Amino acid sequence: MSQLLIIGGGITGLAAAWEAVQFPRVEVTLIDAQPRLGGKILGSEIAIADEQPLMIDEGADAFLARVPDAVQLCKELGLEGEFTHPAVGRAQVFLGGELRFLPTDTVLGVPLDFESLAASGLISAAAVERASSEVDVDWPAPTGDVSIGEFLTERYGRELVEHVVAPLIGGINAGNVDRLSLQAVTPQLFAAARGGGSLTLALRKQQQQSPTDPTDPVFTALLGGTSVLVDALHDALEARGVQILTGSEAVSCSQSDQGKILTELSTGTISSDEVLICTPAAKAAHLLRSISPNTARQLEQISYSSVALLTFVFNKESIPGELLASGFLIPRTAQLLMTAASVGSTKWAHWDDGKHVVLRVSAGHSGDLRGAELTDEELILGLQADLQTTLGITDPAVATRVSRWPDGFAQYEVGHLQLIESIEQSLNKDCPQILLAGSSYRGLGIPACIEQGRSAAAKLVDS
Ligand SMILES: Cc1cc2nc3c(=O)[nH]c(=O)nc-3n(C[C@H](O)[C@H](O)[C@H](O)COP(=O)(O)OP(=O)(O)OC[C@H]3O[C@@H](n4cnc5c(N)ncnc54)[C@H](O)[C@@H]3O)c2cc1C
Repeated sequence: MSQLLIIGGGITGLAAAWEAVQFPRVEVTLIDAQPRLGGKILGSEIAIADEQPLMIDEGADAFLARVPDAVQLCKELGLEGEFTHPAVGRAQVFLGGELRFLPTDTVLGVPLDFESLAASGLISAAAVERASSEVDVDWPAPTGDVSIGEFLTERYGRELVEHVVAPLIGGINAGNVDRLSLQAVTPQLFAAARGGGSLTLALRKQQQQSPTDPTDPVFTALLGGTSVLVDALHDALEARGVQILTGSEAVSCSQSDQGKILTELSTGTISSDEVLICTPAAKAAHLLRSISPNTARQLEQISYSSVALLTFVFNKESIPGELLASGFLIPRTAQLLMTAASVGSTKWAHWDDGKHVVLRVSAGHSGDLRGAELTDEELILGLQADLQTTLGITDPAVATRVSRWPDGFAQYEVGHLQLIESIEQSLNKDCPQILLAGSSYRGLGIPACIEQGRSAAAKLVDS
């Protein structure tokens, strides 16, 4: 029997434990510093006076359906009956005092069709002309990693980057496209650019070669909220004999004379054959400081953005006009506190009780600390003012909730994947029985976290 300790019970650690129990002769212990499992996946009810409370996610509300790992894991846990998809898919950008739809024919904001880009009104006619000249140039393939902002500005001009690409990609990552890595954050753009020539033409060719069914949903959610997946994993793991310790913080890892890993916890010490660390990189650095100082130093180079996500519930009558999009994004040039708003009750039919509008509004990104530093009251007032600017809402909300995600988003800056490779090599040299997985490393979406957790667990228990 070999013993595997998994540190961190977010979706990465939970998926890792699920993978490990598929193997015979492995004893799995999963610990988390918090009193609950799930990490950045959390759902809770929001109370509305004299009405049924609404169950609304405080963090992730969906996962990509076209990347198979999350859908597959849900199926293994028998959760297909919980699947639902957005009722409305298209998003808008707030620009020049108006909400305008993003063009449909783009890959992460990179235009495939310049007519629909022009029709969106998101960039000027001169900027459309500048962007459309990208297809006429024989661009060299990138020789290494580069920032998304620099790469796309050179090809399509700054206006497209500021009004379309940055709100979209910067919004998903709470980051700055002038620092984020083309290779790590947008691997499909990097892969398309690798052949040289026009990126637009390469992406069009990719789409022709492997067309996606436009009726296939891009996102899947769970009717009871994303935390249904966490609860199902918790139950399934306990049923398979995994020892789950919450409220138990790992403090450091060391090696015993017998070749075991000793993990010191706030609640005692655990000895195991292998350890999988599924915490954010900064916490992993702390754990590895004595066993692999070089790994710890490199882990500390990964930076984070903090965000606040506020849920506002309004009476339907308080909303002037129709809400047609699933949400809207705010370019940095608009200088609002709000970075994005998701119109939950338009996007998800199960959040629409017929009487209320649910808005999930974000603040804070790399370079803007207000999401972390403002008080709850300041955030509510500031974002309500932004809702007046963007949607014309002047009535007060009937319910408000503030969810804070300090260091919520790892920033994959230029050279990120090279840094991760170096971290993995350094740890493998010092202590091959310890692996790292999770949102700080190779993808921060839920499917990418599940994939990382499962493959790291399989690698450890199969070795
Ligand atoms: C506001 C927000 C919205 C998001 N929306 C989406 C979305 O819609 N779709 C999507 O796919 N992704 C979304 N994401 C991203 C996704 O939710 C996260 O990247 C993912 O859940 C991270 O999982 P993880 O297990 O790697 O890390 P975490 O969830 O951070 O889990 C790490 C765990 O480690 C524990 N831990 C830390 N230190 C220690 C220690 N020393 N000892 C023991 N335990 C420790 C923590 O308590 C935590 O539970 C969103 C993220 C945020 C913040």
